[in-house]
Amino acid sequence: MSTQAPERFLDYDKSLACIHCGLCLSSCPTYLETGNENDSPRGRIYLMRAVQDGRLPVAGAAVTHIDRCLGCRACEAVCPSGVQYGNLLEHTRDHIEKKHQRSPFQTFLRRVAIEKVFPFPNRLKVALLPARIVKSLGVEPMLPKFAREALSLVPDNANSATLPEVSPARGETRGRLGFISGCAMTAMFGETNQASVRLLNRAGYEVATPKTQNCCGALYAHSGQLELARECARKNIAAFEDGKFDAIIINAAGCGSTLKEYDHLLHDDPVWAERAKKFSAKVKDLTEWMAPEMATCKTKPSDCKVTYHDACHLAHAQRITKPPREIVKAVAGNNYVELAESDVCCGSAGTYNLTEPEMAERLQNRKIENILKSGAQIVVTSNPGCLLQIKAGLKKAGSTVEAVHIADFLDRAACD
Ligand code: SF4
Ligand code: SF4
Repeated sequence: MSTQAPERFLDYDKSLACIHCGLCLSSCPTYLETGNENDSPRGRIYLMRAVQDGRLPVAGAAVTHIDRCLGCRACEAVCPSGVQYGNLLEHTRDHIEKKHQRSPFQTFLRRVAIEKVFPFPNRLKVALLPARIVKSLGVEPMLPKFAREALSLVPDNANSATLPEVSPARGETRGRLGFISGCAMTAMFGETNQASVRLLNRAGYEVATPKTQNCCGALYAHSGQLELARECARKNIAAFEDGKFDAIIINAAGCGSTLKEYDHLLHDDPVWAERAKKFSAKVKDLTEWMAPEMATCKTKPSDCKVTYHDACHLAHAQRITKPPREIVKAVAGNNYVELAESDVCCGSAGTYNLTEPEMAERLQNRKIENILKSGAQIVVTSNPGCLLQIKAGLKKAGSTVEAVHIADFLDRAACD
């Protein structure tokens, strides 16, 4: 028998913070769906510790249930013991990717499609072309279920409109902001990026979008490639640190939470730790920045019923739930309706809908049922992944409800 101690990958003290109270269970979307303790935060922390202690191999049940975790961090937001679940998960996934041999299909999906295409907007644009051609040929029904589900996420009206390096403020300049354009946002929601910058310009801010920025690293961090995520962080810090920005704005919740955690990601790096701290302190979600502007922002009232879906990485990872609602309510007024289970993940979770399509579809159906029950004609959200997942679900359900990014929703309503 080997006497070698298992390799350390977890901050054990962080894992011991879990007191097994179970208060997180009812917030966990996968537990809500399966009722299996191994699909709950408490169960997964137990599995992580079992792998760390060498009681379980990096295979089988441990990998299955850790893979099935959405990384939505709903558990973290309700935990009375302050368990840093996201941190534990990222380190466990990093360990799994180093030690576990995946099937050829999952290896291709993760190492090629997700890691070599998604974080590069130009490659993503090219990759979307054949998908659009297949969709236009109408042969989807002949494809296997996995391919149909993946194709359903390709937006019909994707656009990659670009941003200038500097967009001047309208009227008197109140400050200077940096803007993170994002990979999926650049490749598929270019006009939403333009709408975001227009809102900031209207509010009196000059907006710079440095061309040297790159992927925020969220996809790497969430899929167990922490060193690649750190590389992205260093490049972005360098791209923004000489800009003398009042804040660095992001309109994608998933990217925002990673950008705000660069200080954690690089805390061991003597060259970058301080620079990361300064960078992260400046990052603001677009809704955080715009909500205080609503008092003076003139908007046309909406005559449609509108609801709001909380993106997990905005509501749970960044704990931002009020500002987006203030914005939506400022436009919708009495036509605003709360969405039941608004903060339960829609199943998108970055690239989860590709790696775990079955659970992603269950959560997509759950979300669509709630949206339809709300009676809303418009559902607003603040993350490209949620937008794609909800749009695809509404289309499948034959619904005419429109899913809209909050920047487009506000830009459409803003009076010039
Ligand atoms: S993660 Fe937090 S809420 Fe969940 S069981 Fe552990 S201590 Fe309780
Ligand atoms: S991150 Fe989300 S899916 Fe994973 S254990 Fe926590 S609540 Fe459940």
